[in-house]
Amino acid sequence: MNRPLECRMSLEFSDRRVAGTPDAERARLLTDPVFGQVLTDHMVTIKWTRERGWHDALLGPYGPLALDPATQVFHYGQEIFEGLKAYRREDGSIVSFRPDANAARLNSSAVRMAMPALPEETFLEALRLLLDADRDWVPSGHGNSLYLRPFMIATQRSLGFYDASDSYLFTVIACPAGAYFKGGVEPVSVWITTDYSRAADGGTGAAKCGGNYAGTLVAQRQAAEQGCDQVVWLDSKERRWVDEMGTSNMFFVHGDRLVTPELTGTLLSGVTRDSVLTLARDLGLTAEEGRVSVEQWRADAASGRLTEVFSCGTSSMITPVGRARSAQGEWLMGDGRPGPVTLRLREELMGIQSGERPDRHGWLHKMA
Ligand SMILES: *Cc1c(COP(=O)(O)O)cnc(C)c1O
Repeated sequence: MNRPLECRMSLEFSDRRVAGTPDAERARLLTDPVFGQVLTDHMVTIKWTRERGWHDALLGPYGPLALDPATQVFHYGQEIFEGLKAYRREDGSIVSFRPDANAARLNSSAVRMAMPALPEETFLEALRLLLDADRDWVPSGHGNSLYLRPFMIATQRSLGFYDASDSYLFTVIACPAGAYFKGGVEPVSVWITTDYSRAADGGTGAAKCGGNYAGTLVAQRQAAEQGCDQVVWLDSKERRWVDEMGTSNMFFVHGDRLVTPELTGTLLSGVTRDSVLTLARDLGLTAEEGRVSVEQWRADAASGRLTEVFSCGTSSMITPVGRARSAQGEWLMGDGRPGPVTLRLREELMGIQSGERPDRHGWLHKMA
């Protein structure tokens, strides 16, 4: 059999665990953590060079990376990342939701950004090791989780930009995440921008790369000035078709028929989006990928044909959209309150993640 060498060689991780944060201090930090600001005790790093491929895989203490100021990532933005959550089961084991989908998406982002692929098994092993070392950081309680942030950066030291970097660093860090909305689900309001685009045909919109985010801040500010929580991105050519919302995908509900914008190359293929398509069909709803124009959105909301709109993504799960606003005016979805389809899907998804509902699709992976 002619199997690639990579399949047979598994990367050896060095294990340099530390004692870490004392229990009492960790318990304090886990009470209502501000998302993203409390990091766990360990991190995983793996290096890549053209000569050696992936090497020096290490589970070690969390800490600063020492990088030369002329490192490529600082100047040319060659960076990709992932985001997924791990949950604590009652028996103390740690599970994660569809980590294989994140491993695959990291690699499709890598192709677009001319970065090396990381074997999926190595990606999963890195997560497993980190979760094993930092298992006490995984909070219990409905909706609570440990958020995992794998990312890859270009580390070649050179201000010359001739070709892709000849070295990279893959890193995984983690932070505790409380239930996104305490005390129930609050609908968000959205500002539909026609001044800014997130992505264009042939661009990097379908890759999960840092640069896609930096460019959205001005639009997010504009949304706040308009009294809205989030930005809705339209296609860049006609400024007419909905792509996505902030850093989440969108679903439009017409009674028992759901539509989500199709993957045209300018929006991200969310793992949550894909899961919702499946769950909706499980619940006997029709769920399709298609095109949704702003005019149709507004007209259908006015006529009552459009009953609900929600966004979905790993960080905010499923969030109802109550009010939309554009340069042309403002409209509500129904009475502006969360609708039954949104709430049903949210309950189903969170139920699977917390172990309260059966995992019919084998989405949960035992990690530690
Ligand atoms: C990460 C992300 C999403 C949501 O993807 P999930 O896999 O569901 O978390 C949607 N849009 C953008 C731009 C994103 O970066």
